[in-house]
Amino acid sequence: MNLMNELNNSDFEVADMLLRELKRQEEGIELIPSENYTSRAVLQAMGSVFTNKYSEGYPKKRYYGGNEIVDEVEILAIERAKELFGCEHANVQPYSGSPANQAVFFALLNLKDKFLGFNLTSGGHLTHGSHVNFSGKNYVCVSYDVDEKTEMLVMDSIHKLAVQEKPKMIISGLTAYPRKINFKAFQEIAEEVDAYQLADISHISGLVVGDAHQSPIPYADVVTTTTHKTLRGPRGAIIMSKIEDRLHDIHHPKSKKNLAQLIDSAVFPGLQGGPHDHVNAAKAVAFGEALKPEFKDYAKQVVKNAKVLADELMSLGIKLVTNGTDNHLILIDLRPEDLTGKGGIIQEALDDAGITLNKNTVPYEPSSPFHPSGLRLGTPAITTRGMKESEMKVIAEGLAKVIKSKGDASVSAEIKKSILELTKHFPLYPGLSILK
Ligand SMILES: *Cc1c(COP(=O)(O)O)cnc(C)c1O
Repeated sequence: MNLMNELNNSDFEVADMLLRELKRQEEGIELIPSENYTSRAVLQAMGSVFTNKYSEGYPKKRYYGGNEIVDEVEILAIERAKELFGCEHANVQPYSGSPANQAVFFALLNLKDKFLGFNLTSGGHLTHGSHVNFSGKNYVCVSYDVDEKTEMLVMDSIHKLAVQEKPKMIISGLTAYPRKINFKAFQEIAEEVDAYQLADISHISGLVVGDAHQSPIPYADVVTTTTHKTLRGPRGAIIMSKIEDRLHDIHHPKSKKNLAQLIDSAVFPGLQGGPHDHVNAAKAVAFGEALKPEFKDYAKQVVKNAKVLADELMSLGIKLVTNGTDNHLILIDLRPEDLTGKGGIIQEALDDAGITLNKNTVPYEPSSPFHPSGLRLGTPAITTRGMKESEMKVIAEGLAKVIKSKGDASVSAEIKKSILELTKHFPLYPGLSILK
């Protein structure tokens, strides 16, 4: 089945865009820490006839006919997710990370209930209580922050805040924090104040299943993750939870549902209609890939590469938030370069050099989210491409030169040549048949 031929014949404009995007991905260095390259098998499962099916409900309890095979697909995805993470319950239907978190709020909290979330400026996600997001608008968010000096989370301060505020839920997890999260310590706090812990491992789930980060599964009541970041699957999400509702008598005395049932009914019919069966098929494929021993090697190499990249950058005089990393991501602090509020300018100069990353706030940002003073980067995508320690050195040099030039176009043009030379040796999808 040659899908690209069909596209070429029927819609030249989109076919052309697809080819140009593939070229962009092949030629550049992808450092956005939430991005990755899926396998061709995942791509094929997504671009399949499963997209034609409607299957509202859950396996064996559907509202439409013709779901025998789709039921097998969803059951396989669930079973593989349970094996991969070691969780009691998994719901694979959420369309993406944000809807997954929305479903957890919907399942556990009432409107205007209070929860604790990680400050967006210092590393939390929009859905952890930003005032422009549903989480901050519909619920009362109290934010915890990193220590101003060490730029790291301090469990004692979070504990104090939780005792003082008595939230109904505490969210742990990160989107731009380069250090490990202690889910066990979060759970101890949550249990002391009768709150649920929602561990959002969207960024680090690949590291968790690859034994490169502590797993929240033994501790947290609910765990959400996207499937398209370090986990290297299709765009989507899953929600995992315990089955028993530890706080049933305190927070849901009138409900007959356990925690797993609360989550399931929040996803469907609470928030969503039909699941994306083609994506669920691709999730099953990606979970199968992550169950293989090679995936552990991948996860460990992601962390190793990030450490080398961080060390190289620091040795070239670049300041990093928290002075390093112990996960897959790195935050560059541009303030010492006299580039406060200029993250966007450097992001563009790096784009011209063939290096993609994103501007980001630094803790206690003195400028604004749209004109931030930092850069966020990570190693999941380049590690999938097969790059190792020696390539990290080349990339660090390019990054440092562009930053030190403050965005000089001639420096970007010069770096672009070395980036093209480097990426040539790491083909993205060798012989990608659907593109022939
Ligand atoms: C990426 C991310 C999400 C949201 O995922 P989308 O698929 O973009 O909606 C939620 N939480 C965290 C921690 C994330 O990093």
